[in-house]
Amino acid sequence: MDEKDLSLKLEVIVAEAIQRLSKLNNTEELEKWRIQYFGRKGIFASMTSQIPSMPVEMKPQAGALINSAKRKLTEAFEERKKNLLTLQDKKTEFNLNFGLPGLKPETGSLHPVTLVSREIVRIFQGLGFGVHTGPEIETDFYNFEALNMPADHPARDMWDTFYLDSERKFLLRTHTSPVQIRVMEKISVPLRIIAIGKTFRRDDFDASHSPVFHQVEGLMVGPDITFSNLKAVLIFFLKELFGTRVKVNFLPSYFPFTEPSAEISISCVICEGKGCQTCGFTGWLEILGAGMVHPEVFRKSGIQQNNVTGFAFGAGLERIAMIKYGIDDIRQFYTGDMRFLKQFG
Ligand SMILES: [Zn+2]
Repeated sequence: MDEKDLSLKLEVIVAEAIQRLSKLNNTEELEKWRIQYFGRKGIFASMTSQIPSMPVEMKPQAGALINSAKRKLTEAFEERKKNLLTLQDKKTEFNLNFGLPGLKPETGSLHPVTLVSREIVRIFQGLGFGVHTGPEIETDFYNFEALNMPADHPARDMWDTFYLDSERKFLLRTHTSPVQIRVMEKISVPLRIIAIGKTFRRDDFDASHSPVFHQVEGLMVGPDITFSNLKAVLIFFLKELFGTRVKVNFLPSYFPFTEPSAEISISCVICEGKGCQTCGFTGWLEILGAGMVHPEVFRKSGIQQNNVTGFAFGAGLERIAMIKYGIDDIRQFYTGDMRFLKQFG
């Protein structure tokens, strides 16, 4: 090959490349084209690699010819790229349809547990109860010891606990009852409070259990508070929450921190006591645990007066919400499924 042949060959390559370039319609095709000519294994790379084997007198001229062809194609490439990008911008412009309705922003709604919690706060504030909170990370003292469960007390097995350290000093509270102790340490008698918050247990995540759930705790302490006061307050509360038609049933039970203790049920809101799947054909739904505050709990909280008595109660908010709204799986509360959550406003 002499200089003339090389020059002719390059002219053909350039003409063909420019023609192909004019037909490319997007940046991906453009990039393929660039690689075919300018890539490491491209046409120009292969031509440049032949220079060393050419006759000595032809080498400088060959290099100059190849470079000039490369320059022409680079210019054509940049030009085409600019045109394509402008074209794309224009296309986007034309795709805008100002007649279409706008995107409606998603609005939030209150979670059923929040709704139930607000309703409970409203009822108890009406009875003069204050609302308190406590830490979710508790010490063994507040979660167990002060609630009449010293180390190795068998009742501790009633709660499968998340411990936070190997010495088991810190834990995620298994119930809201530690707030009782914290309040009695701070506030003087007489007092009436509720506490609402998250509680944690090492339960499986199934239709009726969740490792995280919410409780409401109540405490009323004063001179000569009796079980009659407990009954009056809780019956009023349950009838406010579920309607005046519900019947309330008290059964003896056991909790380490109350004596005597009671398990409280309401007549099934689905079948009104006749028996159905929801109430396991008993006609009753367990809803609250309660009792008279154990003297040991008063002692641990620093309350010494002789005539001071009190009652306490606790209930699960998810359980209340499930009964109130007819939800059969506790996991629904935690899936974050907007179709479920939006039903409750
Ligand atoms: Zn029923």
